[in-house]
Amino acid sequence: MKLLVTFSRRGGRDPGREPIIARVVKETGVLINVEKAYIESMAGEVLIDVPDADAELVRQRMEEMGVAVRVLEDAISRDETECIDCGACISVCPQDVFSFDDEWRIQLQQGRCVLCGKCVRACPHQALSLQQ
Ligand code: SF4
Ligand code: SF4
Repeated sequence: MKLLVTFSRRGGRDPGREPIIARVVKETGVLINVEKAYIESMAGEVLIDVPDADAELVRQRMEEMGVAVRVLEDAISRDETECIDCGACISVCPQDVFSFDDEWRIQLQQGRCVLCGKCVRACPHQALSLQQ
């Protein structure tokens, strides 16, 4: 399951210099896969992947440490009324989220998405959007 972890050193939820991910791995024993990270001196956003059964434990522990955690159930959504099954999203997605089924209709495997946004920009019908 994908979790989007955000922190800020501004305001009242400053986790300080705590190595958040390393500490949660050590304390919980859950293996965390970092899929994307954007970190500046004052704020950051990290997309992690954890086993479904451990997601709640990881979320709780991180929130205790002062970071915001959002569970991404459906990271990317497709408007079926706009999609024309052209396949442009298949060719640009680095995670193989999209594929054709036997009837050449687009299928999604949400769990693979890393929120890169390439498919959203490539879709000629603006049928795709990322979970905000
Ligand atoms: S690029 Fe857009 S219109 Fe084309 S198959 Fe993908 S979602 Fe549908
Ligand atoms: S946001 Fe990136 S990883 Fe997610 S479905 Fe689109 S192209 Fe694939």
